Amino acid sequence: MLIFQAKCFVFAQTVDDLFKYYTRVAQKYMVKSKHIANYYSIDAKGIAMYASASDKKKNNPECLIYWDEIELYKNLIHSKDKKEQLEYYKSKKDKRFTIIEKRRLSLGNMPPQKSISKSKGKKLQGYKIAIDPGHIAGSMDIAKIEHRFIEMDVKGKKVSFCEGDLTLRVANLLKEKLERQGATVFLTRSRPNTTSYGNSFKHWRKTYMPEIMNEALARKKISKWERNRLLLRARDSEIFHDYFLPRDLEMRASLINAFNPDITIVIHFNAAPKKKKWDMPVKENYNMVFMPGAFLADDLSNPAERMEFLNLLVLGNFDKSAKLSGNLIKEFSKQLDVPPIPINNKIPYLQKISTFVSEGVYCRNLKLCRQVNSPLCYGESLYQDNEKEAIRIFENKDKRVKQVADAYYNAILQYFSIK
Ligand SMILES: [Zn+2]
Repeated sequence: MLIFQAKCFVFAQTVDDLFKYYTRVAQKYMVKSKHIANYYSIDAKGIAMYASASDKKKNNPECLIYWDEIELYKNLIHSKDKKEQLEYYKSKKDKRFTIIEKRRLSLGNMPPQKSISKSKGKKLQGYKIAIDPGHIAGSMDIAKIEHRFIEMDVKGKKVSFCEGDLTLRVANLLKEKLERQGATVFLTRSRPNTTSYGNSFKHWRKTYMPEIMNEALARKKISKWERNRLLLRARDSEIFHDYFLPRDLEMRASLINAFNPDITIVIHFNAAPKKKKWDMPVKENYNMVFMPGAFLADDLSNPAERMEFLNLLVLGNFDKSAKLSGNLIKEFSKQLDVPPIPINNKIPYLQKISTFVSEGVYCRNLKLCRQVNSPLCYGESLYQDNEKEAIRIFENKDKRVKQVADAYYNAILQYFSIK
């Protein structure tokens, strides 16, 4: 009897801790629009997702994870691909995992966890780090299709470069530095103009797009007329943004998740807001860092999106992402001599669709933020179109890129509490 009481006490404590923890992180990081509350609940039973507000009122969950199933559900996220996860999600409702499912998802079937050995004297021995160099373009012709380039006159000087080239340079430098300290590093793309699945845009459009369009036609997603238009007459930029890029981002996330890293670093360079083209120099220059969270009302419109919300919540990496992002924004200031975006800024995407975490750090529901399973920071260093910055990057690219890579490197060492 005594033993039973003691067990109950321990269990009650644990549930209470879980309840408090998940309630806090959901409110602090995940919920940007108050309508999100219609789609989830955290209570004495566990964490539940609902297809609509009326389903929540009727207590009719789409997927309920009981508190004693949290670890099993984490295993499910780490061991199954998105399609299989969604099958589990859609069939779960308020049922418990069956004995067979429990056996399948139990730790015995999981890939072995790495053992961190520090005996070899390298600071990052045993750590796995994924790096995503943002965008694709390594040359101006592709950068113009991608809409990520600087080409402007700054005080009579013609300046040009592309963001995808800068991010890949930083990623390669960072990889080298991390590997020197024993880390295992994965890059989502390693060649200019080439996606995470190894294709250039032009090759993909010629070789793979007809098949994809035929499939879309067979599934009645597009008409025959639309297929012909897309294959024969659509502009490169339309195909790039509507078909090529979404596939690439999905692939980046799934490759990162298959690698199962301790942390993920997404590398971008920023530009001043409110401009369609980056063709006029600006006076401002700031850094920002994004991390997962900030769901809006229409971000949960189908089961796949609601599952992504549940997965992010259950994995619960928010405090870790905030720590990593906080380190990064400080290192950006220090290494680049550029400040974080001021707290009282008027930038619409920060005020309306992002959640403030700390100076320069915001939750933002970007695709990689939402789909990657590990703690993540999404760096947006510098305004490339700042008048001094543009010249600095154009004339002394190697030096500026090295400073950015140093900032990421130092932030990572601090995250793992390594001096
Ligand atoms: Zn970018």
